[in-house]
Amino acid sequence: MQSPRKHWPTAATFSKSPVENWLQWSAWSWQSRKADKRTRRRRYRLHYSRRAWLAVLLCVQPSLLAAPVELVRESFDEGAARLPVITVMESLRQEQGTARSASLAGWRREGVQVGTLPIPQGALVVEYDFRAVRFGSQGQEFTSQTPSTHWYMLYADAGGRLHLHTRHEGQWVQREMSSSSLRLDTWYRATVSLTRTSIAVRIEEKAGNALVWESLKPVAMDDIGDEMTFILCDEAPKEEECSTEWDNLIVSTDDPALAKRFSAHLKALAQERDEQERRRRVAAELQKRGIALLPMPQEVQLRAGMYRLPKAPSLKAMQGCKDAEVAAVRTALKDVLGSEVRVVSGSADIVLRRMSGGQLANARLEQQYRLAVNPKGIAIEARSPQGFFYAAQTLCQLLDKAGSVPHVSITDAPAIENRLAMIAIDQGGFQVVDVDYWKRLLRELAKVKITHVMPYFEGAGFLYEKYPFITAKGENGFTRSKSRELSEYAHQRFIKIVPQQQCLGHSGAALHFEQLKDLRESGDVFCSSNPKTFEFFADLFDELVLAFPYGDYIHVGGDEFAHGFAQCPQCKARAEEIGKPGLYAEHMMHVRDLLKARNRDMMIWWHEQGYTEEAADRLAKDIVIFDWHYGNQPSYPSLDRLQKKGFVRTWATPAVTRYYDPGDDFDNTFGNIQGFLRAGAKANVPGECTCTWVQGIWGGRNIFELNLYALLWSAECAWNPVASDAELFHWKYAKLWLGLEGDGRGEEVRRAIHAPYGDAKEQKFWRDNRELEPIIGETPTATAKRIAERPEIVAEAQALLDLCANARRILEQWQKEVTRNRVTVDFLLNDVHIHEVAARKILAVNALSKAWIVSREKTPAERKETLAPILTQLQSLVADLNEIEAMYRRSVLEAGGGECGWGGWVPFITTGGIQFRAAEGRKGIEQALERIKASEGNGPVPANLP
Ligand SMILES: [Zn+2]
Repeated sequence: MQSPRKHWPTAATFSKSPVENWLQWSAWSWQSRKADKRTRRRRYRLHYSRRAWLAVLLCVQPSLLAAPVELVRESFDEGAARLPVITVMESLRQEQGTARSASLAGWRREGVQVGTLPIPQGALVVEYDFRAVRFGSQGQEFTSQTPSTHWYMLYADAGGRLHLHTRHEGQWVQREMSSSSLRLDTWYRATVSLTRTSIAVRIEEKAGNALVWESLKPVAMDDIGDEMTFILCDEAPKEEECSTEWDNLIVSTDDPALAKRFSAHLKALAQERDEQERRRRVAAELQKRGIALLPMPQEVQLRAGMYRLPKAPSLKAMQGCKDAEVAAVRTALKDVLGSEVRVVSGSADIVLRRMSGGQLANARLEQQYRLAVNPKGIAIEARSPQGFFYAAQTLCQLLDKAGSVPHVSITDAPAIENRLAMIAIDQGGFQVVDVDYWKRLLRELAKVKITHVMPYFEGAGFLYEKYPFITAKGENGFTRSKSRELSEYAHQRFIKIVPQQQCLGHSGAALHFEQLKDLRESGDVFCSSNPKTFEFFADLFDELVLAFPYGDYIHVGGDEFAHGFAQCPQCKARAEEIGKPGLYAEHMMHVRDLLKARNRDMMIWWHEQGYTEEAADRLAKDIVIFDWHYGNQPSYPSLDRLQKKGFVRTWATPAVTRYYDPGDDFDNTFGNIQGFLRAGAKANVPGECTCTWVQGIWGGRNIFELNLYALLWSAECAWNPVASDAELFHWKYAKLWLGLEGDGRGEEVRRAIHAPYGDAKEQKFWRDNRELEPIIGETPTATAKRIAERPEIVAEAQALLDLCANARRILEQWQKEVTRNRVTVDFLLNDVHIHEVAARKILAVNALSKAWIVSREKTPAERKETLAPILTQLQSLVADLNEIEAMYRRSVLEAGGGECGWGGWVPFITTGGIQFRAAEGRKGIEQALERIKASEGNGPVPANLP
């Protein structure tokens, strides 16, 4: 037999497979800003034993380990071919810190032990340096995180089990592999067996030893083949040079137990697919008749025939119906029809009946309703005012332009009881909380059956009457009277407004004030030992309860505090006594008791370093845990883990906008929302929260208005996750949100909103907003320098303009046609405009650079002629930048815009007043224009660009 090394390639690249997509997501989200061209391509090298022909690929969930991770074999014991190869990593970088593999020899010299063991052979030790992070808002900036180093160690024992340890205060502590606390929660080990004609792959998730097919759902059995393609190629592969494509992938295992689980899993998948298919068929039938229901009801039977509803329909409530139930239907219909519904005692268009009570298996069934339309009229049955309200909302969506409703029977109830939209008004956005805008928001979210809206207060958003100084927005933010008015409006539409007030970390905006310095543990974290801390919280809660009288919860944050936790002598001593998780539990339980005394339940973020889980036995189980994950993960095993810890009120928490978001990637957002809410519904979670963070980032582009698109998608997925379908959603969005009818509308939404700038996997300059944004604000000289460093951006700018032209064509047509929510389209166009301006600036500066050199040799007249067209381009950019600035101001007043006074990585927006980097960019161009004009005389032309 020939040496396999000659026959078989030494490295493999996953390409265009779901695995690649998933890895790419993970890698993307942490991609270093200045990653060089080489590391921008991610390669996952695959090494295998000569003897066993068994290859082992170890993929580390790279959210910790930064993007360009290359895993390279360090050593391989051929006698133990089934042991994973432990690897050395290179190029580990990320925004907030640096990870690197540490020298094993160094550790051994120090005699560091893992429990009672010395560091095992082949262990991977990662040293991770967090650098200090500067936080700031409203003109205040301070260092929040102290630089610190963390160590993680991974190794496999003789039985092939992986172990993860972390080092705390000189001690190595074993972590459960299932712990998410280190973001190393998900380990995958793929065993890839190569034969001449096939590849056998076995992927296991080490967390809980689950079969990975469970986790890597996109790689279901039947997907393997056409979609999952491994490309095998030589060392240092270039995709175009890859030699062999394997289109038939055979998955095999010699483990009978695994095979059994595998087949059970496939059976469950097949059942789920059948159900999805059945619901899709119903949805397609509705679409054919031009009916858009969002969210999609659970059961719909459509029949021929229509019932004509008069403009002011009559309504009759049968015996047993409560006034509140009649009012609910009237409110819903009035919001849409604009006219009052007449209540009559005789025959009526709409008849309300109470569903018989009885013990409900699940609280979500309180919202159940039946809606039947036949030639005689419309019958609604429900068991609560909320159920009647939702039936009426569905009825409104069934209404066509002529005021007719199709004959239909609908039985409906949500898959997830509580459906919350979170709005981070204190992380940019909503510089002005306009009551009318918020009413529109509540009305629109009620139409898609959202139950809770949560404004987030880190400091500036709510005007506390006792502590007005912490509220930078003042009367522009939430005041007590605005809050009460909105709460009342929301209450009529079955939405509860839940305030979120940070009560542990993330509180720098309040704690930097001198008046509160006693409560400060360090930076932006509250002291857990000072009784005044809790007196302060009690004051805040008293005001929040008054302002939001209908809420059942208050969210108190509780994430991202460990950097400043347990530092004062009292807290330190207590932490030494009962551990940091113990101190955390004491703090949270104290806050929880304050809320209980005010008849509110406590909501918290799951703490990403594991305190929530470690403190599980000390925390009351009536606490609602928001289990947040913002990437499109193959699975969400943490739901199960938290439930097993006893947290029965765990809510699935995806996001529309993520931190460190490299760019517009709605595929990720949609996948995250759908996947998480499907997993949540399966796990019977009582609630979901969809977050919209950091409005105002991306150079002021991510205003709240544009987040509504994906919030509607989350409404769809939370109510009926099985039937959710992005393609159908796009069509429904066009119809319901914008009032656009017609078959091709879904495709238009995809091209103008979902992916206007092409495939998000392509690595173009505009994909990283942190690269796009500065281009708008910088001087032409700086842009010229940028082009010199990365000449390819000139071609990319041209490509971007073509994409923008496509999106613009659609959006401008919409501006003429939309009948609702025109403001959304205006701001979508603004987003396209910002992209266009960045691209045009690159092209104009590039032309200027070239023409400048040539024109130096020419006569003044020739020079003027050469430069004239470029001057015109620059002048039009000035007008463009003025327009962007004007739109930014408009967003602040009427679309949830505002400065993001948070973090140094948002270069566009400065703190204090409505300022926008577009103004800087405009001034830079104007100055350049002046200098060019000045050089038009007979004097010598300077070598440098103006
Ligand atoms: Zn303290």
